[in-house]
Parts: sequence; C-alpha cells; structure tokens
Amino acid sequence: MLLSVEEAQDIILRNIDPVNRETVRPLISAHMAVLSREANARDDVPPFTNSSMDGYAVRADDITGATEAKPTTLTVIGTARAGHPVFATLKPGQCFKIMTGAPVPDSADTVVPVEWTAPGDRPDTVKILKKARKGLYLRRKGEDMRRGQVVAPATTVITSPVMGMLATIGIDQVPIVDPPRVAILATGDELREPGQPLELGTIRNSNSYALYGAILEAGGQPILYPSAPDNAEAIQALFQQAAHECDLLVSSGGVSVGDFDFVKSVIESLGHLTMWRVNLKPGKPLAFGDVLGVPIIGLPGNPVSALITFELFVRPAIRTLLGETDWERPRMRLPLLTDFTSHEDRRQYVRCRLLSDNGQLALWPHDNQGSAVQTSWQNVDALMIVPENTGPYHAGDMLDALMLSLAHVRPRHEFSPGTNGVD
Ligand code: AMP
Ligand code: MG
Repeated sequence: MLLSVEEAQDIILRNIDPVNRETVRPLISAHMAVLSREANARDDVPPFTNSSMDGYAVRADDITGATEAKPTTLTVIGTARAGHPVFATLKPGQCFKIMTGAPVPDSADTVVPVEWTAPGDRPDTVKILKKARKGLYLRRKGEDMRRGQVVAPATTVITSPVMGMLATIGIDQVPIVDPPRVAILATGDELREPGQPLELGTIRNSNSYALYGAILEAGGQPILYPSAPDNAEAIQALFQQAAHECDLLVSSGGVSVGDFDFVKSVIESLGHLTMWRVNLKPGKPLAFGDVLGVPIIGLPGNPVSALITFELFVRPAIRTLLGETDWERPRMRLPLLTDFTSHEDRRQYVRCRLLSDNGQLALWPHDNQGSAVQTSWQNVDALMIVPENTGPYHAGDMLDALMLSLAHVRPRHEFSPGTNGVD
C-alpha cells in the first residue's frame, strides 16, 4: 500500500521544526516576509479626531434649522488644514473652514461638507444649506486601531496592506522570521544550464530555476547548488555540503527505480530514508528523510512532477519552517466543463484552468497531462483531485480542487482553448 498524500504530508511535517531565528529588516525590505512577533499599535489610529471632508467644522446644535430655502449663516473664524491644527474654541454661531485630514477642534462636533454650503453675505461668513447629524464626517481618534491593539499577529505575511499598517503604527524596523535556507539540488548527467549549448541527449536544467521561484514564493531563501551528475560520490559530496549550509534540502531527479538513480541510497548513507513513494500522479517516487540531521525532500525529475510535489510537500514544509501552521490551500468542489476520462490506480492531481461559466467557477483540465509537459503547468489555477480507481467523469460532474490562483480566470464564452489551457 502506498502512503496517501495526507499521510506523507503528516510524516514530513512531523519531522520539521520551525527555524526560530529572528532577524530585523527595514520595512521596505520586509515585503512577503513573516512577522516573528505580534505588532501592536503604539498609539490610537487615527491619533486625533479629524475631518473626512473638505467643508466646515460646526456645532450641530447651531444648524438644526438650516435648509436651502432658509440657510443658517455662521461666522468663519479660521481655516484648519491637514498638518495645521487650529487651537481656538468655537462659540455659538461660529465655525472653522476645514480640509480633509485636519484635526477637528474639541469645540466642534460635526463637519458640513462644502457642497452643502454657499458663500455668506460677508467674506467671513458662510451659509449652511442643510442640517447635519451630530458627528457627521468625523473620523474619530482610535476608530481604526486602539493603542495596544494587536494589528498583526506573529506569522502574519507582510503583504502590501500589512506594510501600510506597520508604517501607520510607526514600525520602521520589522522583526521577521529569518527565511529558511532551502538548498536546490538537481541531479542528472543530461542537465545543462540555460546559457550552455545542448549536445545530443542533453536538456536544460529547468527544475532548479522553477524551484528557485517556487521557494521564493513560498517564503524561503533559495540556495542554488551546481547540479550533480548521476554518480553516488558526487551526489554525496553535494548533499553533505548543502546539509551544512541549509535548513531544508530539496533534490530533483534520481529518486526513481532507474539504474542510475542514487538519491535514495545517498540519503541512507548520510542519514535516514524515512519514506519513499506516495499514492499520487504525477509524483509517485517522492522521497523524504534526513541528511546529517537536516530534512531532505527528494522530488522526482520530471518538471511537472517536481513542481506538483513541491506544491504538495515542499511548500508546506517551508511554511512550517517559518512557524506557520495554516499552510493548506483552499479546497472547493467545482463542476467540470469538459469530460475527463483518464482512469488511474493512483490519485491524480490534474492541472486545470478556472473559467467562469454563468458566473460560477468551473474546471477546465488541460489536455496534455504529461509529467514532462511544462506548458501544462503554466496556466494552472487549480489542481483537480481525481480519486484512484474512479472515472471517467463527464462535463457537469463535481470534483474537489486545490485552489492555487485566480490569475487565468476568464468567462467561458471568451475562452477558445488551445493546447493546455493557453488561449
Ligand atoms: P529522473 O527522475 O532522474 O529519472 O528524471 C526524470 C525525467 O526528468 C528525465 O527525463 C530527466 O531528464 C528529467 N529531469 C531530471 N532533472 C531535471 C531538471 N533538473 N530539469 C529538467 N528536467 C529534468
Ligand atoms: Mg535522472
């Protein structure tokens, strides 16, 4: 019996501990890092009650009878601008001109927008054409955040809105979890780098680069090693070096049953092979263990297998190293837009685009699901989960899917399918 995906995830994550290293970065360098401590508001936000409109700061009681037919005239005793408070006190019948963001003096309780006023008969007066509910157009001190309030808990990902909030509460140096160092270890005699020419029988090492981006996107610090030939000593030396320098090793290739697949035996010689092979397609030969005590995930070599197993096992491992527990992708049950007939004895993760069909999301499986077909991984929004020994499925059938993105959603009628969901 092969391990299920969930059993394999469980084994991997039980054997991975958070790195628990903290570092401090300037706010502008902390984008997408993970907060290592909660961030608290040091003061109320906004720090003072202010106007949300350009208009006049008034006492609501003074204008209860104001109408367009019978305006109330007030005396304007000054102008408050953003960044320039006024300190005078309003007496009955008086008001301030006020701009958006300017502090509202204590003696005023309401802002009348400029659109509800007309010039007075004298230059220092204004006509109010409409009464206003007390408190209208005030942004009250502390209405957004209260002093001491947790505005972002530890493990928050520092997205653009979080950057804005941290700036608002005055944090210019941000405590973050030191991104885990993730080694990229490609194996294969046939591999050449993108800048090198190809002789017959060689191909470009694409996994290292796709993994580099995927590790960054998952919040890790990728460390790219030169790929190793299919030779046990070379792989051993590479893994040993990486284990001294990294928190997690990720290899690709050499993990199946070929005569020149040495990754498993090298893991056994330097540490432990905890598990091998998972019930999924693509990606069955996945391996997990440790090298000199450092966790290693051995991904299959086929580019799509490597990236789907990255999504299912390495991304959760990186999130766990970062201290997060909530790494799971959203799962939705969605209808198929076309027939899906492939029947397998393993659970399939099917690359799909999401399309909107009469306003509902639906699954469009890519037509070439080959594990070496890189174009099939390009426009993927969802991985449809097809249980083993089930199918064929037909348009309209409902299936579970892991939601990866909404980047390629289009209305069904605007989509003319080319190969692999490329339109
Ligand atoms: P393996 O798991 O080593 O048997 O590799 C399976 C397939 O993936 C073979 O066709 C390899 O040439 C290919 N492959 C292995 N590593 C890479 C890589 N780093 N980049 C692109 N293709 C690879
Ligand atoms: Mg190989």
